[in-house]
Amino acid sequence: MTTTDTTATTPAPRVHFIPENLPTHLRHFIGGRFVDSVSGTTFDVLDPVSNQTYATAAAGQQEDIDLAVAAATEAFENGPWPGMKPRERSRILNRIADAIEAQDARLAELETFDTGLPITQALGQASRAAENFRFFADLIVAQADDTYKVPGSQINYVNRKPVGVAGLITPWNTPFMLESWKLAPALASGCTVVLKPAEFTPLSASLWAEIFAAAGLPEGVFNLVNGIGEEAGDALVKHPGVPLISFTGETTTGQTIYRNCAANLKGMSMELGGKSPAVVFADADLEAAIDSTLFGVFSLNGERCTAGSRILVERAVYEDFCARYAARARNIVVGDPHDPKTEVGALVHPEHYAKVMSYVEIGKTEGRLLAGGGRPAHLPEGNYVSPTVFADVPPTARIFQEEIFGPVVSITPFDTDEEALALANGVRYGLAAYLWTSDLTRAHTFAQAIEAGMVWLNSHNVRDLRTPFGGVKASGLGHEGGYRSIDFYTEQQAVHITLGAVHTARFGAA
Ligand code: NAD
Repeated sequence: MTTTDTTATTPAPRVHFIPENLPTHLRHFIGGRFVDSVSGTTFDVLDPVSNQTYATAAAGQQEDIDLAVAAATEAFENGPWPGMKPRERSRILNRIADAIEAQDARLAELETFDTGLPITQALGQASRAAENFRFFADLIVAQADDTYKVPGSQINYVNRKPVGVAGLITPWNTPFMLESWKLAPALASGCTVVLKPAEFTPLSASLWAEIFAAAGLPEGVFNLVNGIGEEAGDALVKHPGVPLISFTGETTTGQTIYRNCAANLKGMSMELGGKSPAVVFADADLEAAIDSTLFGVFSLNGERCTAGSRILVERAVYEDFCARYAARARNIVVGDPHDPKTEVGALVHPEHYAKVMSYVEIGKTEGRLLAGGGRPAHLPEGNYVSPTVFADVPPTARIFQEEIFGPVVSITPFDTDEEALALANGVRYGLAAYLWTSDLTRAHTFAQAIEAGMVWLNSHNVRDLRTPFGGVKASGLGHEGGYRSIDFYTEQQAVHITLGAVHTARFGAA
């Protein structure tokens, strides 16, 4: 795919930036020690600007997962972590948050190098990761459980306990932040964990071990196994000693994992793909809607599950919206991810770049190209794609239906609220939705009818950590966020206490 977009006007990139003290080999972390795979197998890790191998990583196999699960099981059954007072666990979680904040700049630099995310946006991810730990540190000390009273007869209370060894499988987009999203509630709940990060981006995950050890997390509570999804991930999913799997990734991978969890009837939480609509009514604040819908699909290089990648616009403002939107998209600064001026960096990996570029070509046959449409002319190397805007995209188009996960957006006109709702709901996904209108009744009526796990009115994705996070339809199974995450990582055992005489039929007494 060699299409070049000549409309981009951004300056030539700086010389390729390489962080200092970059590791050249990444290992597993099992039972408190960094180790290689038992078999010695490794895989190559590329950076998305040069597409050169900068490190090798240990490639976990069944036997490495077995060792990690054994260490996590030992820490769960015989270590202090699951039985610690919530305040003690909370103190450690807060120290973890402090440590993440203290190395914000280093973390962002490594994340940007490994993923191609613009540095200013990677900095935000580090703060968010710290916030996840602080949030769950607060939540567990405030945790209360239900008691039910039957006067004179019975008291029932909920004995909440951590489930055991949690298997955490994460994707390559904003990897450190998404890992924190699972690690924080799992650890807060008293589980021990085995984390299998995405193979495209294992660099930032290697920082967790030292952060956790310095904060006082007991040995064996956190275990990390790098590796390929179909090998290390698959072994973790199928391991009988792991009672629950929290997975974030593609819908098709989620379906495979769902099938593989069935054999052991595992608890599952699935955060999957999306193709979220942003619906702009004619009565909206158009300038705010344009700012927000641009950010909603082009931030994080468009590699975000909740991206508003389908914009539906009411006919009365459609041409005006398209023209203003496309002019802004053509102005977006694409370039070196480490340059603070960059707004869209390099896509994570050449394989993903090829996939996104193939959709750009498909889009040219399905819609009217308004901006982008290929590689920026000034960036001949690296996984760069110009922010690409297609208008007049019909709902049957592949670029309307399928998740592209890159800086590509489709715009479609509508005439009535009913048509807008049918278009919004007319895909297999149901993760997020964004509505732009100044009509309060329409906003709530539409929000409640839309098939999406999360809806934002007159805003892009700004999330309160207490709220449910998750999708419907092909976008996920179960909700995490706030107490729902604690519910996922804990069992709620009901204990019944008899207070009075219990009538018992006296079998065999006659
Ligand atoms: P992916 O499904 O390819 O991989 C995700 C993880 O699963 C990786 O660690 C991978 O190694 C592992 N894996 C792959 N095959 C496996 C198998 N058979 N068994 C066990 N593990 C396996 O996803 P990706 O390309 O890394 O991430 C992008 C996808 O993630 C997009 O679809 C995006 O929408 C989705 N996502 C969803 C959310 C959400 O919260 N809903 C958040 C971020 C990303």
